[in-house]
Amino acid sequence: VPAAYSLVTVNGRDYRRPSRPTVVMTIDGCQPAYLDDAMARGLMPRLSAMLAGEGAYHLGRGVMPSLTNPNNVSIVTGTSPAVHGIAGNHFRAPDGSEVQLTDPAHLRAPTILAEMQRVGVRVLAVTAKEKLRRLLADGDVPAISAEYAHEQGLPGLGIDDVPAVVGRPNPKIYDWDASHYAMEIGLAVHQHLLQRDGQGLELLYVSTTDFVQHKEAPGEPMADRFYRRFDEMIGAYLDAGFVLGFTADHGMSAKQEADGSPRVIYLEDVLDGLGIREYHVVLPITDPYVLHHGALGSFAWVYLPAADRERARAAFAALDGVEEVYPREEAAVIFEHPADRIGDLSVGSDARTALGKAQAKHDLSNVESGLRSHGGRHEQIVPIVVSHRLSARYAAWHEAGAQSRDLFDFVLNGVAQ
Ligand SMILES: [Zn+2]
Repeated sequence: VPAAYSLVTVNGRDYRRPSRPTVVMTIDGCQPAYLDDAMARGLMPRLSAMLAGEGAYHLGRGVMPSLTNPNNVSIVTGTSPAVHGIAGNHFRAPDGSEVQLTDPAHLRAPTILAEMQRVGVRVLAVTAKEKLRRLLADGDVPAISAEYAHEQGLPGLGIDDVPAVVGRPNPKIYDWDASHYAMEIGLAVHQHLLQRDGQGLELLYVSTTDFVQHKEAPGEPMADRFYRRFDEMIGAYLDAGFVLGFTADHGMSAKQEADGSPRVIYLEDVLDGLGIREYHVVLPITDPYVLHHGALGSFAWVYLPAADRERARAAFAALDGVEEVYPREEAAVIFEHPADRIGDLSVGSDARTALGKAQAKHDLSNVESGLRSHGGRHEQIVPIVVSHRLSARYAAWHEAGAQSRDLFDFVLNGVAQ
């Protein structure tokens, strides 16, 4: 059997080894409207040309909650949170404390990158945000963040000074082009290895940051700059001979009142109003990047004594703006969540409403001018884009609606080798 056709099984799925350099990108917060709007105004000529040729773009869905860590991990493992264990950016640990889900010790499934590397495929993971790097590095995958590229080398690939390879210093994490720098790292490392060893990267994963998408709607100036530059990077990857697939971890919605102020339901205040004394509200969107969203998204877990659960469930479900409330066992099935890492109740709000703890606990100063966020059902809709012609079976699946966690399957198995 030729090496190109040997299969690598990861979490129950078979993947072909890449026979051409292959990149999967997760564009953080890329609501499909950003692409549609940018292409309609001619800002993404390379993407438009790709789609007019062999490429294809259809809508699909990510996992719930529509947050960065659960979706990035679903994409790189090809499985659900029930299997890989990362159901939030943040969760309540068994000891009752709130913990960031950034430690690979929390991962319950291997990544496709790690399993490919184990059979000798040359892989790399690049993330804009440091918070994802350790999860992506699980299994000794070489991984680097744009945020700390000036401090991190890639010893596994024999590279000490990554900004020198890229040819410019890394931007700050709240700069508009921190995401593009992550894309630049991937391509520059590939070309550096190709020159040095005659063999570049074979499988690359690039994950970006959604600071721009949190701050600006489609058509606003910084968003336009973001998508123009993303288009140039798509072109650069295609010119370098890559098969490219990209998706988003989640979309993005304005969660605002008519006057532009944040529209938030504070769940602890609701529980206080019911006279419930013992509770713990956990917001799985919580992460270190507070300028984005003030920890306000459209999904929450509530822990409370069994005797109060039905009363709380009914009260939440009756609120204008709340769309879904499920007890733990139902949520685990509906959302494919690990039952031991979610609350007694899972609460989801509508596109224009965010969920908070108590009003007094959230600093709204960074989102006063407009809260744009995600976490709920409405931001589960994501673009799924593949650069090269898909086999008939994969093309039909793509059109009918795939999941973002199928993207490695698409680029490795669906594209003719
Ligand atoms: Zn995200």
